[in-house]
This record gives sequence, C-alpha cells and structure tokens, in this order.
Amino acid sequence: MKKGIAASKGYAIGKAFIQEHEEIVITDQKVNDIVEEKQKLHNALDASREQLKKIKEKAVKEMGAEKAEVFEAHITLLDDPEFTGQMEMEIENTKINAMKAVEGVTNTFVMIFESMDDEYMRERAADIKDVSKRIILNLAGKGGDAFSITEENTIVIAHDLTPSDTAQLDRSKVIAFLTNIGGRTSHSAIMARTLEIPAVVGLGDITATVQNGDFVIVDGIKGEVIINPSEEVVNEYKAKRESFIKEQEELKKLIDVKTVTKDGKRVEVCGNIGKPEDVNQVLANGGDGVGLFRTEFLYMDRDSAPTEDEQYDSYRYVLQKMEGKQVVIRTLDIGGDKTLPYLPLPQEMNPFLGYRAIRLCLDRKELFKVQLRALLRASIHGKLAVMFPMISGLEEFNQAKEVVEECKAELRAEGKEYSEEIQWGIMVEIPAAAVYADELAKHVDFFSIGTNDLIQYTLAADRMSEKVSYLYNPMHPAVLRLIKMTIDGAHKHGKWVGMCGEMAGDETAIPTLVEYGLDEFSMSASSILNAKKIIMEQ
Ligand code: PEP
Ligand code: MG
Repeated sequence: MKKGIAASKGYAIGKAFIQEHEEIVITDQKVNDIVEEKQKLHNALDASREQLKKIKEKAVKEMGAEKAEVFEAHITLLDDPEFTGQMEMEIENTKINAMKAVEGVTNTFVMIFESMDDEYMRERAADIKDVSKRIILNLAGKGGDAFSITEENTIVIAHDLTPSDTAQLDRSKVIAFLTNIGGRTSHSAIMARTLEIPAVVGLGDITATVQNGDFVIVDGIKGEVIINPSEEVVNEYKAKRESFIKEQEELKKLIDVKTVTKDGKRVEVCGNIGKPEDVNQVLANGGDGVGLFRTEFLYMDRDSAPTEDEQYDSYRYVLQKMEGKQVVIRTLDIGGDKTLPYLPLPQEMNPFLGYRAIRLCLDRKELFKVQLRALLRASIHGKLAVMFPMISGLEEFNQAKEVVEECKAELRAEGKEYSEEIQWGIMVEIPAAAVYADELAKHVDFFSIGTNDLIQYTLAADRMSEKVSYLYNPMHPAVLRLIKMTIDGAHKHGKWVGMCGEMAGDETAIPTLVEYGLDEFSMSASSILNAKKIIMEQ
C-alpha cells in the first residue's frame, strides 16, 4: 500500500496505465540563420496556440468556463513578451537553437516561481512547464495531443499531470489518476475535484512502483493506493465504492434544498472562504451564503498590503457571485500564528494572547481604514455583513464602529456610495465575549462563534500544540455552556448567531448545536451537503 495526498474524493478499482511523455533530447546548437530559427519558434507557438484553443473548448464543455480559464492563461503565456519574447531574444543574442532557448527561459521562470513562499504560486511553475513542453514537442514535430486510452476503467499514473493532460482525460475510460508529485492546490488536483474523479497526488515514486496493466485500487478519501490486491480486498473496496457513490448522489439532492430541522426551524448552511474564487465551491455545494471570509489571506504572500481598490474588487466579486445571498466578511485577523512580512509585529511571549486582530487594527487605524472603506464601497453590490475578530468587550466594538463612521463620512465627502443595510457583528471567540453575550447582543447585529479560538482560550490548550491536543475538546461541557450562553444571549435581543469555527462542520457536534438553536453554520465547502443532511435529521 502506498500513501500520498488525497486530492479528490472517491474510490476507483481499475488497470494502471503509466503515462510517459516522449522524451525529447534537447541539444545545444549554434544556428546560422537566425531569421529561420525565429520562424521555427513562431510556428511552434502558433501550433501550440491552436492546440490550446481546442483543449480549452473541450474543457469549457466538460468542466465549465471557470476551470477552463487555466488554458486561457496558457494561451496568454504564449503571447507574453516576458516569456516567449525572451526566447526570441535568446536566439537573436546568442544564436542558439529554438529548443535550447525555450528550455533556458523556461528554467529561469520555473526557478523563480518554485522559490516563492506561496504554495499556489509554486504550483504555477507547473503551468509554465506545461506550456514549454508543448512548444518543445511542436518544435520537434511531435506536437498534437496526448495519450490515447482505449480501455475502460483505466487509472492513469504519471510523474505529474499537466492541466492540459488532465483536461484531455477521456472520462468514459479514465476513472482515477495518481501522480508522483503535486499537492492539493495543483491544477490537476483542482480539476480532478471538478471532474469528480478520485485522485491521489504526491505519491513519490508511484510510476516506478506500478507496472502497466497492474490492478490498482485508489482510495481518494484516505489518499491510499493498493497495488494488485487480493480478491477479498477488491470486494471490500467495491462495497465502499458503492456506498460512497450512493451517498454522494443522495447528498447532491440537497443542493437546492432549504435546510429545515424536524421541528421546522430554518437553518443557514454557509461556506468559509479564504480567496474570492472559493465562492464558486460554496455555490456548487449548495451553500446559503458565505459565513466567513478570512480576509487576511488577501494580505498574505505579497510585499505590501492590498490597496483599497484591490480589496474592493475582491469583496465586490464575492458579493456579486453570491447574488444577494449573505456574505459575512471578517476584518483583518493578523497576529497569533498569522504574520505579514511587511508588517513587523513585536516579539511576544504569547502571541495568541497579544497584539492581534482587532487590537492591532484599532492601533493601526491607517491600515484598518483602507479595508473598511473597501468594504463600505463594495456593500452596494450585495448583502454584506461585517464582523470584527477577537472582540473581548463592548468598548472594542464601539471603537471599531467609530472608525467605520469616520470612513463613511470620508466617502460621503468624496461622493462615493455605500449601503446603509450592512450588518455589523462580532466573532465570539474569547470566553469573555461569550459570558457577556447578553449585554453585547444589545449593540451588535449578530454573533459568529469562532470555536477554533474559543476552545483554546477556554481550556487553555494551544490549538497549535500536539502535546495538549487531547485537551482541545469541542464537546467539553464548559465550551458547550459558553456556546449556549452566546446563543441565548443573542436570541434574548432578537439577534442571530452563526458559527464559523471547525466545530460547525463536525458531525458529532451538529446535533447539539441544532438543539441550542444555532441559526447559521459555516464550514469548508465540501462539508456543506453532509452538514445539511445531519441538520435536517435533527
Ligand atoms: C475561529 O477562531 O474559530 C475562527 C473561525 O477563526 P480563525 O480560525 O481564523 O482563527
Ligand atoms: Mg479565530
């Protein structure tokens, strides 16, 4: 059995097909006719462009426009003067052959991307390699596409699958794929999830371990691969596959269903997002809204804070995509375990108890105001709710609202619009806020319970520490009491309460939360349908 990273859920049982791209040997040659060599490059770029257009059309049909955008990005890369223009310059300046020029420029770009801190950006190196491979194949006269799979129930095994390889997989024959490298955010993994075929990536040397024609079981839930299993194991997995398919089919019926408990209470089941594009998954899984947009992700992996206009675009995108469904955006929650390279924070003994979230924002008003202005301006594009993280008492909420008023006055003076319908709430993630909930509820529009932090503060058990993880228990009676106090406190004053910590999607906790009268559950998109099902059984 081999273990890798579970990239796309499901089970598959089939025959291995090892995909090996033809190796092209790139030699280093000096050319005499620069014009001719540049023409060769142009022909290869044109051929690549045509091929990519076809792949894109196929992808649009099979995966939808959004997922096919990667091929548009590839086409753009072919026309990018920084990339292909550089290749031309290499031929001109050093008189090397086109293939060598493509290889050289690609290596430089790949190195830059692969050294970036952000996993997503690192994965983009794969796009550059993909485009480059295509150009080189076309230069070698071996363009055209891919591998032809004739047998049904095929499991494709490759060192890495490029996005174009993935898009061309014939879904009537390919039932899963496995790769040596890659992570959950690699395009092939994202596409596998969209195609809804199981995939395990990052398996190390799976191409060497498996032979063509081997019988293989793929467990896309645990990220496991079993090679040439016994009949008994095959039967076990056949049964697992049957019940998984049934479960998924059943769950899909809930996409458009409003979640109502047995005694008739309507409950909202929403998604948590970190990047604006994540809303698409929330919608695809039948989310009633966005219950938490962790905006600090907009601030990460860059050299400076996002500008007001950049933030406005992100918030507007999410609000428009959600078409009137509620979007709860949390203001910057930096500090603790989340730091920014351009915002030096003081060294503290206990950063989780220190200078973070609203504390930092109230101290750094210039930073806070950029975000608040962007939020206010975006508010006209949908149903916006804003919440402040790490609120411990009324004073902080009032101070934050004062800054909001300042921003509103500025926008009015500048003749810029904002909505008066925004709801203003707080995260309840510090025990003090939970205990004081019935008083705070008089002043806020809503609460959202952040159990990830609430549990660690209540039980004094660091959420990052494995050593004390045995204490970190969402169902501890003291945690449950605080949750109940928060819900009761809000309801006393006619306010609604959501939960956006991991506990909201926890199957074992949901029945209790429904019993306590929680109004909104917010979780990762892939948990939404299952949560809907459980809530409806209560
Ligand atoms: C929480 O604390 O429960 C929460 C949702 O916020 P974060 O995990 O971002 O701290
Ligand atoms: Mg928190």
